[in-house]
Amino acid sequence: MKLIISLALNCLFMAQVFAYSESFEVLVRSEKSLRTHYELKELSEFERPDAFDGKHFKIVHGKSNTPVSFTEKDSELLLKAATVYYHLMEARKFWISYMDSDVARNLPKLTVRLEIKNQFDELGHFANDNRSPQFNNALSVPAGETPEWVPEDRKDKWGKEIWYRPMKSIPTKELGPMGPNPLTISLQALERPLIDYYQGQFSYRLMEQFFYPAYVTRPLHEDLIRYAGTYALMKVIMWGSKYADNLFIDKYYYLDTAMVPEITYHEYAHVILSDHLKLTHSTPVNEGLADYFAAVQSGKRKVYAKVAGHSNSASKDTQEKRKYSHWDESNRNATADFTLSVLWDVRETLGEEIGDKVVYEARNYLTTESSTISHGLLRAILRACEIKCKKPRRDKLKLYETFAWKGF
Ligand SMILES: [Zn+2]
Repeated sequence: MKLIISLALNCLFMAQVFAYSESFEVLVRSEKSLRTHYELKELSEFERPDAFDGKHFKIVHGKSNTPVSFTEKDSELLLKAATVYYHLMEARKFWISYMDSDVARNLPKLTVRLEIKNQFDELGHFANDNRSPQFNNALSVPAGETPEWVPEDRKDKWGKEIWYRPMKSIPTKELGPMGPNPLTISLQALERPLIDYYQGQFSYRLMEQFFYPAYVTRPLHEDLIRYAGTYALMKVIMWGSKYADNLFIDKYYYLDTAMVPEITYHEYAHVILSDHLKLTHSTPVNEGLADYFAAVQSGKRKVYAKVAGHSNSASKDTQEKRKYSHWDESNRNATADFTLSVLWDVRETLGEEIGDKVVYEARNYLTTESSTISHGLLRAILRACEIKCKKPRRDKLKLYETFAWKGF
């Protein structure tokens, strides 16, 4: 007994010694608008008293492995480190307490890189510095290790990571004419949903430059396509807020990903879903899922309302323009927002809590390589409903109706 008490005391003591907290200004999204504002938040679970090295997240600058210091002189970098740390801790809380995810509970510490321009290299971690630097986006990278033959000084081994690119403001008028590009076709596909919501505010060329600023012909298709990942959700956020926060402006456009909470939620969702949906691939299904959980988590009524506006059930009479068509499968990432609208319909059909559980459960029956929306996602949702719905028979019927009405 005495031993137990002393052990318990010991643990308490250790916990005190090894968990530090510190208050920082962070950017959070306002309840009533789509803007962000500053708030002072106490950030906790740091493993050292002076830097962003927590139990669950370590925030570093670029390729460095040293955590960003609490006394960092670059105030923008400090704000990004604190904002990203705060929203990652919120995301972790969401996945553990609300979604009851064991993956989140057992996830090893993630390294989070700010202002990193290098491309990801599956064999070397970072591609060469001079190989078309990347801006204005974020991505999650899979764990990996350099192969045997790599010289000692270049050996590296890493876990799953989240990367935020630096922001780069590009004047719209500087966008000269561009030649043919391997992405042209997929970006043209992106244009359609854009037109729906922006009525031509952003040209296809702008989008191309935005998602693919480096503009080189390069075969790493997946790598590129991933950048458009948060796209569906970004549209939702930007839709009602032209001014948005550091997102797009007419004359310049740029995206400071570390400052956008939903992008952090989206990337963290990818990491959580990566037990079944690999980080090396980007498909409408896994992008739509990541967007779905980012939207749920952002939990702001305005964002909800906008997402609901995307879904068919809210707009029965709008010429059914969001109904399923083969077009939606024909191009991979372009349709993440369609997936989002399907999932949102599931949520409205089953109710928030069960809907969220069903959507999460569905990942067990999906694969990155072969799951499309019509073959895979719908079936996965029905199977998940058998397990998570209160009255599976009745609820599956409701889902059939929803899907049929959606054009499937
Ligand atoms: Zn994504």
